[in-house]
Amino acid sequence: MRSGIALFGGSFDPLHIGHLFIVEEVRYALDIERVFFVPAYQPPHKSEAPRASAEARLSMLDRALVERPGCSVLNWEIDRGGRSYTIETVERALETFPGTGKPKLIIGDDLCADFGSWEQADRLLELVELVIVTRGGSVESDIIKEFHLIDNSPLPVSSSDIRERIAAGRNYRDLVPSAVYHYIEDNGLYRSSSA
Ligand code: ATP
Repeated sequence: MRSGIALFGGSFDPLHIGHLFIVEEVRYALDIERVFFVPAYQPPHKSEAPRASAEARLSMLDRALVERPGCSVLNWEIDRGGRSYTIETVERALETFPGTGKPKLIIGDDLCADFGSWEQADRLLELVELVIVTRGGSVESDIIKEFHLIDNSPLPVSSSDIRERIAAGRNYRDLVPSAVYHYIEDNGLYRSSSA
C-alpha cells in the first residue's frame, strides 16, 4: 500500500514533461501516496525571478494536475511571497500532515552541488528524506550523506529551453502537458525573451 508524502519544489516556469515523468518515477519506486508540487514565489538559488507570474505558474500546475491521481499543488510559497525557503515549507508540512512520517523531498541532481547553501540545510536534511532524480549530472555534495537515488532515464527537457523555444517561435508542443500548452498559447506567455 502506498504511504507517505513527498514535496517537489520548483519554479515550474513552465511545468514540463520532465517534471511529470520524474514524479511518476519517484511515486512508483518509493510507493508514495501523494506528491505535492510546491511552486516557489522566488527561488533563492536562481539569479532571476521567474518569467511568468506566480498566478500563471499556479494555473498551469492546477490545470495539468487536475486528473493526475496522487498529485496535488500547494500554494504556500506563493501565498507567503518573498524568497521561498524549503525549510519553511517542510516545517508547515510536518504540522499540516501529521502521522505521514518524514516527508520526502524530491530534487534533481543539478541542485546537489549547492545544497549546502540552502537555508538551514543541515536541519532540512534532518527533517526530510531526500530523493534525488538524475538529470545526467552527479550527486556530489559536501553535506548530503543519505538519500534515495532514483534510477530514472533523464529526459533532456528544461523550462529555460522551452522558454527559449517559445521566444524563438520554435516547436515546444510535446514538451509540456497539453493543458499547459493551451494556457501558454492563450495567454501569450514567454513570447519575448525579456518580458
Ligand atoms: P529552468 O530551466 O528554468 O532552470 P527547470 O527545468 O530546471 O527550470 P525547475 O522548476 O526549476 O525546472 O525544477 C524543479 C525541480 O525539477 C528541480 O529539482 C529540478 O532539478 C527538477 N527537474 C527539472 N527538469 C527535470 C528533468 N528534465 N529531469 C529531472 N529533474 C528535473
